[in-house]
Amino acid sequence: MRKKFDGLFEKCDGVLLTSSHNMRYVSGFSGGEGAVLITKKHQLLLTDSRYTEQAQTEAKGFEVVETNDWIKETADFLGQNGLKAVAFEDDRFSVAEYNKLKELASECEFVASKTEIGKMRMVKTAEELDKIRRAEEIGCRAFEYILDYIKPGVKERDLALEIEYFMRKNGASGTSFDTIAISGTNTSLPHGVPTDKKVENGDFVTLDFGCVLEGYCSDMTRTIVVGKASDKQKRIYNTVKAAQQIGLDAIKKGARCADCDKAARDYIDSCGYGQYFRHSLGHGVGLLVHELPNLSPKSELVLDENMVVSCEPGIYIPGFGGVRIEDLVAVTKDGCENLARVTKDLIEL
Ligand code: ZN
Ligand code: ZN
Repeated sequence: MRKKFDGLFEKCDGVLLTSSHNMRYVSGFSGGEGAVLITKKHQLLLTDSRYTEQAQTEAKGFEVVETNDWIKETADFLGQNGLKAVAFEDDRFSVAEYNKLKELASECEFVASKTEIGKMRMVKTAEELDKIRRAEEIGCRAFEYILDYIKPGVKERDLALEIEYFMRKNGASGTSFDTIAISGTNTSLPHGVPTDKKVENGDFVTLDFGCVLEGYCSDMTRTIVVGKASDKQKRIYNTVKAAQQIGLDAIKKGARCADCDKAARDYIDSCGYGQYFRHSLGHGVGLLVHELPNLSPKSELVLDENMVVSCEPGIYIPGFGGVRIEDLVAVTKDGCENLARVTKDLIEL
């Protein structure tokens, strides 16, 4: 694990991790509270007494330090060992924590490193892929299950709840984000929140959901039509579906993330819907549901084998409705393995 930090160790002599996902990634400790400090010589896990036993069991190869004040303990350690520069997750620190650490460890420089630290989780191991695959499979089954449940008169909130209940019942420890189950004109909101609105005949229904299995996230979206789809609904749906396939076809080892986004975006643009696709094509998924790499126009990253990304173009027309189709894929040498096996043909219920 320490060799993941080789790049950081060129300019720093320690790495301080405070987010639950990065602490878990490097140490195996899933309690989420405290901090992990890795230096060239030491691997410390600082946590409070509620977690000592768990930490000792999970964090193999780590010295577990029980403390009610991990900031002070960290500062003391840095001082005693003469560490001069420590990389840290600048997006996972409160201003109060940072100020306290700076004050107590005034000899040490803290180097903002959220991106470099985040990059270490991009390429997944076989074990991680297996967990994500199984998490996504629970999602696929939830989608198949919910199709029977979607009818005119059912509330969006109940759809969301039913999906979540199914995923929990089938092995998930929780959801990877708040389930999106929206219908009708609400589907023009890319991240709409389920309401008491009842599904009506002729509605688009967009379901975007994911679960957590053994710490790893899944994520998928399907949009269906209740009743017969109108010509306009079909046109929008088929545009998104074709764009999604173009995105999937672009995803492979060596591809630039920005180019994958561009491939799908250019197609939507050519169909006249460019102004209605206003988010990125996709994002990395792992211990977090949104992690690196992003398939976005701004990304400078290049895909590598065993990265896991979503491919999720959408068209959202205010006052009318929207469509998003999202699969989760693992990048391979020549393409990608699609982890979401459920159909993307337009379903008219
Ligand atoms: Zn999603
Ligand atoms: Zn997503």
